Amino acid sequence: MNCRIGHGYDSHRLVKDRKLVLGGVEIPFDKGLMGHSDADVLSHAITDALIGALGLGDIGMHFPDTDPAWKGADSIYLLGKMVEKATGMGLEIGWLDATVLAEKPRIAPYIDRMKERLSSTGIPQDRINIKAKTAEGMGPIGRGEGMAAYAVCMLEAISLNQLHFLGKNHPKKQ
Ligand code: MG
Repeated sequence: MNCRIGHGYDSHRLVKDRKLVLGGVEIPFDKGLMGHSDADVLSHAITDALIGALGLGDIGMHFPDTDPAWKGADSIYLLGKMVEKATGMGLEIGWLDATVLAEKPRIAPYIDRMKERLSSTGIPQDRINIKAKTAEGMGPIGRGEGMAAYAVCMLEAISLNQLHFLGKNHPKKQ
């Protein structure tokens, strides 16, 4: 199989006295997302999309919210662990597209920094697209009670050229 696709979704409630972290970037706001880790809803949707494409279940199976190890965890680290797993399986991210749904604050000014932070996991920055939308005032997200994110991830077999560049042998042939 040369190509696989995965879909991810996540949502978290907005509460007082929490940092707001999206795509690994701390965004100034009077509320933050509630959760066991840093509750980075965008990184969680992306990680679940990647896990889906790998056929490895879901994020909760790999990083359970009952495990104290992941309390307050940087979700970029969790994503990095799954990118490593993909590389080990001979797969690389061919494309990643994600949408954040948030009524406030304005997310667009932070998208470039999010892409930069997400690419620190090994996902090439020029293969990441992030979109930000509001819910037009409708429903719980429109009322500012929480945020949600969707992501789609395409995985491709690592090309021989890329392996040469990385100085590695093909994982399946090791
Ligand atoms: Mg989550």
